[in-house]
Amino acid sequence: MKIYDIAIIGAGASGLMVASFLGDKQIALIDGNTKIGLKILASGGGKCNVTNQNVSTQNYLCNADFAKYALQNFTSEHTLSFLEKFNIPLELRNHGQYFCKNSARDIVELFKKLNAHATLFLAQKVKSVCFMENFIIETDSEKIFSKKCIVASGGVSYATLGATDIGYKIAKIFGHTIKTPAPALVGLCVQKEQFWMKNLSGISFNVKISINEKSFTNELLFTHKGISGPAVLSTSLYWQKGKIIIDFLPDTDLKKLLHVRTNKQISSLLPLPKRFIKEFLASINLQDKSIAQLTNVEIASLQSLKNYIFAPAGNFGYTKAEITKGGVCTDEIDAHSFESKLQKRLYFIGEVLDVSGELGGYNLQWAFASAVACANHV
Ligand SMILES: Cc1cc2nc3c(=O)[nH]c(=O)nc-3n(C[C@H](O)[C@H](O)[C@H](O)COP(=O)(O)OP(=O)(O)OC[C@H]3O[C@@H](n4cnc5c(N)ncnc54)[C@H](O)[C@@H]3O)c2cc1C
Repeated sequence: MKIYDIAIIGAGASGLMVASFLGDKQIALIDGNTKIGLKILASGGGKCNVTNQNVSTQNYLCNADFAKYALQNFTSEHTLSFLEKFNIPLELRNHGQYFCKNSARDIVELFKKLNAHATLFLAQKVKSVCFMENFIIETDSEKIFSKKCIVASGGVSYATLGATDIGYKIAKIFGHTIKTPAPALVGLCVQKEQFWMKNLSGISFNVKISINEKSFTNELLFTHKGISGPAVLSTSLYWQKGKIIIDFLPDTDLKKLLHVRTNKQISSLLPLPKRFIKEFLASINLQDKSIAQLTNVEIASLQSLKNYIFAPAGNFGYTKAEITKGGVCTDEIDAHSFESKLQKRLYFIGEVLDVSGELGGYNLQWAFASAVACANHV
């Protein structure tokens, strides 16, 4: 019976990263997929947004005291120099986001090389884990034994890319608490009063969305189900239920614009797509007419373009969510080593934990940072 030094459950971003730092160990790298890093390949529209110029705990929904050690120990600069060392070309885009210049495939190929030492157990879905002197990891076809076990199995979003709830199951087996998981970085459905937005499917433009103390200025995309696009995805991280506020004209002083009593029609004056203005005006029962003809009440109702308040009906669900928020409660995990405080030699890293990042490379940065902290300890 072979006993591996370390079994890693999940050959995704965090599992591959931790394994790359453990070249001197006997590693069993287990994944339910037939290939490693499937989610990395799909990330960032195939270009993988690996990290962000500005990373701090402020970009995460988490216990900041827990997440700060790993994020400071392996920063976005570390991610950049790690990838630079292996000649992976990156490009800096807006909002400080670093993407692969060529393809996300570069990252997966790099991990293949760095993990040549590991024994791969692919197409092996882990069903259960128990501990009897060593860890016994039961997959759908065999039992794998290891001295240490790292759970890097991610959240439950995008089951088509291999996601399962095994991480939460394992955590529960060892007595951990799970913070209720929910889809995040996901589009939001609208209520009946906002159904006019569905007629705008395909249109996108820059908006500012505010939710509680957070606000995001980025693109909003209208879809046949509701609203999506980067600004909405980040908003969804902080939304559970209740209201959000959209400023459809973040760069325009609308009061000043409407103050000039021009003969121009509303739809010609406002720097917004014509289709949007048409639907918006219909939703507030206002006809497109010249600014000079607007009554004070009509001008006031147009102001809602800067301050459109509504409560989304829900979200598009796990099949469309880029991540799962919630997860293994971080109070029960050591912030430096990522070892369970309830079971020695058991570790949790990456998205399976209750640490969820905004859109913009923050989730891969967390996967890498937590993996490196864990590797240093293991
Ligand atoms: C479409 C999409 C695009 C994204 N784009 C970006 C982006 O550009 N930038 C960014 O920062 N983040 C992005 N994310 C989020 C990011 O990919 C994840 O947060 C990150 O991959 C999490 O890393 P992880 O290692 O914790 O989990 P994962 O990368 O999800 O890896 C978990 C692995 O565990 C395996 N697994 C699960 N259950 C089992 C089981 N029972 N048995 C065996 N193996 C199992 C899975 O097959 C998977 O390979 C994106 C997500 C999606 C879905």
